[in-house]
Amino acid sequence: MKVLKTVATLFATGALLATAATGAFAQDKGLIGIAMPTSSSLRWISDGNELKSALEGMGYTVDLQYAEDEIPNQLAQVENMVTKGAKALVIGSIDGTTLSAVLQQAADQGVKVIAYDRLIRDSGNVDYYTTFDNFQVGVLQANSLVKGLNERFADQKPWNVELFGGSPDDNNAFFFYDGAMAVLQPMIDSGDIVIKSGQMGMEQVGTLRWDGAVAQARMDNILSANYSDGTRVHGVLAPYDGLSRGIISSLRGVGYGSGDLAWPIITGQDAEVPSVKAIIAGEQYSTVFKDTRELAQYTAQLLDTVLSGNEPSGLDTTTYDNGVKVVPSILLTPYEVDATNYKERVIDSGYIKAEELQ
Ligand code: BGC
Repeated sequence: MKVLKTVATLFATGALLATAATGAFAQDKGLIGIAMPTSSSLRWISDGNELKSALEGMGYTVDLQYAEDEIPNQLAQVENMVTKGAKALVIGSIDGTTLSAVLQQAADQGVKVIAYDRLIRDSGNVDYYTTFDNFQVGVLQANSLVKGLNERFADQKPWNVELFGGSPDDNNAFFFYDGAMAVLQPMIDSGDIVIKSGQMGMEQVGTLRWDGAVAQARMDNILSANYSDGTRVHGVLAPYDGLSRGIISSLRGVGYGSGDLAWPIITGQDAEVPSVKAIIAGEQYSTVFKDTRELAQYTAQLLDTVLSGNEPSGLDTTTYDNGVKVVPSILLTPYEVDATNYKERVIDSGYIKAEELQ
């Protein structure tokens, strides 16, 4: 497993750097601002903490802020970081298009900007983008959905599937959806999969701010409008664990998971603890594991390379056009996680402790 080895190697490096920084060689290499979208999702907490400790271990001072999915909060936080003289900004944006003015100010002051996991669009003042292969995330979700449908409902074709997308102001949401549809569209065309609600395309299936309550309400509506006659839902494409949990609540409300109404195949993303528990319980079928420790370590090392005046190498310079420029990117590998491999992926790698799943 390549990723585990990589993370272990990076961690070893991080540990050495941390020791050096707290010892006699500690030096102040300047302020880095980290702006994260929300602390309501476990993954962003882990991203923030990993980034902070990696950068502090390298000798930087860190200002870590969470905006709780409120655009004005994030704007004010980033402005404040620039005013305080940050040398670089690492931004997990809520809606990156709202940051153009402050990014211009940052560029005027020579501040380096890394778009963290979410691309900042419509600005030339984004230096780098660090993320996972987001198209592949969608491919993994759809492949997993189809695998589950074959396992659980092989004799019930065509399969009734409903589609959920992420937040339309997050560029990633389109990559996830497009990746999934690359797998699902041919099966819809061949008649193996039926979208009973007819709701397709990001404009119809997007979920503003990745809000689980919004997904739950939409699933409630879909169920009452299309499935009250006893037709069953076989699968739900959900792009994020927080949405999957809302969808599960909605399905539970009409009796799925009890009696002879088996759970539909429901996907997810982020390997959040409550969702890995739901996978073990058989409620959610799968998630996509993106090792945020790895993303944080790569981001910190990229930043340190750039701030030390060196040219980073090996970046992807073709995939992510933000509307103004192609932003040089680091694309890490995502992995599908289900009941058969969660131990190996998330416990053995140390991402989640076994006792957290009890
Ligand atoms: C991230 C996903 C996350 C989603 C909701 C996306 O930008 O790439 O990992 O599930 O935001 O927080």
